[in-house]
Amino acid sequence: AHVAGRAEWNGVGALRDGYRVKVLGNVGSPADAVAAAAAGAEGVGLFRTEFCFLSASTEPSVTEQREAYAAVLAPFAGKPVVVRTLDAGADKPLPFLAPDPEPNPALGVRGLRVAFDRPDVLERQLEAIALAAADTDAEVSVMAPMVATAAEAAWFAERARAAGLRRVGVMIEIPAAALSAHEVLAAVDFASIGTNDLAQYVFAADRQVGAVAALNDPWQPALLRLVKLVGDAGTAAGKPVGVCGEAAADPLLACVLTGLGVTSLSMNHTALAGVGAKLASTSFDLCQLAARGAVAAADPVSAKLAARAPH
Ligand code: PEP
Ligand code: MG
Repeated sequence: AHVAGRAEWNGVGALRDGYRVKVLGNVGSPADAVAAAAAGAEGVGLFRTEFCFLSASTEPSVTEQREAYAAVLAPFAGKPVVVRTLDAGADKPLPFLAPDPEPNPALGVRGLRVAFDRPDVLERQLEAIALAAADTDAEVSVMAPMVATAAEAAWFAERARAAGLRRVGVMIEIPAAALSAHEVLAAVDFASIGTNDLAQYVFAADRQVGAVAALNDPWQPALLRLVKLVGDAGTAAGKPVGVCGEAAADPLLACVLTGLGVTSLSMNHTALAGVGAKLASTSFDLCQLAARGAVAAADPVSAKLAARAPH
C-alpha cells in the first residue's frame, strides 16, 4: 500500500505514471473563481450560472448576464471553463423561472426542462455566454443540466451550436441518461456526471432530506456501476467524461472514478489540493484495481475498503 501522506500538489492533475486527469473547480461567483484559480484549478468543470441570479425577481438582461459570466471567466485565461445553463427549480429555485406548484419539484420542471417551455430564456443565456466567451480568453464550453434522453441532448446541442458555442456537453444526472450514455454522447462533445442528483434519482432519496442521506452516499456500488457505464461509453466514443458532483472531492473516490474512465474531476476549491496530491500518489493500474473492487462491492463500507486495498 502507498501512503499519500501530506504530499504537496503541483497543480497538474496527473497520476505518478503520467496518466492525466483534469482537476477542476466548481464555481458559482467571481469570488469562487478567484479562489479556485488560486488553489491551482486547471480550469472550471462546473460553473453554476443559477447561483448568479438566485435573488433576481426578473430575468437578467443579456448584458447583465454577459457581465456576470465574464467576471467568472476572467481568472481562467487559456484554461477550460464549462458553463452550465440555468439549473432552476427543486433545490435551486429561481424566482423569475418558478414553475406552477408541483407535488415533487425534484421530479418536475427543472433544469433543461424549463427551457422546453421557455426556449427564449435559454437562447438569451446562450447569447450572453457566447458574448462573455468572446470578452475573455477562457476556453468556454457549455452544458445543460437535467438531461434525460439523447433527443434532449440533441435539442440542446443544436441551440448551443446555433449560438456559436463550439464545445457542447450535457450533465448525466438522471439514471436514464446514464443508461443511454452511448446515444447521449453521440449528440454532444462531452458529458459530466452530476453524482449529487444521480444518487438522488437512482436511490429515490431526496438529497435535501437528512433521514435518507445514507442512501445518497457516493460510495454506493449501484451509483458507481452507473458511473462505469458512462465512463465506458466515453472511452468507446473517445469523448471526455467528467464528474462534477461531491463524489469528485473525496480523494480515494477520485481514484475510483479515474479507474472507471472519468477524465476530469471538478470540485470545491477547498478539495483541490487533497485530490491532486492523492492522484499524484497513485497509478492508473491501481485506480482500475480500486474501481473493480468498489463496483463489485455489496455496500458503501465494503466499496471503500476495496478501494483502499491497493492504496
Ligand atoms: C450534481 O447534481 O451532482 C451537480 C453537480 O449539480 P448540482 O449539485 O448543482 O445539482
Ligand atoms: Mg445536479
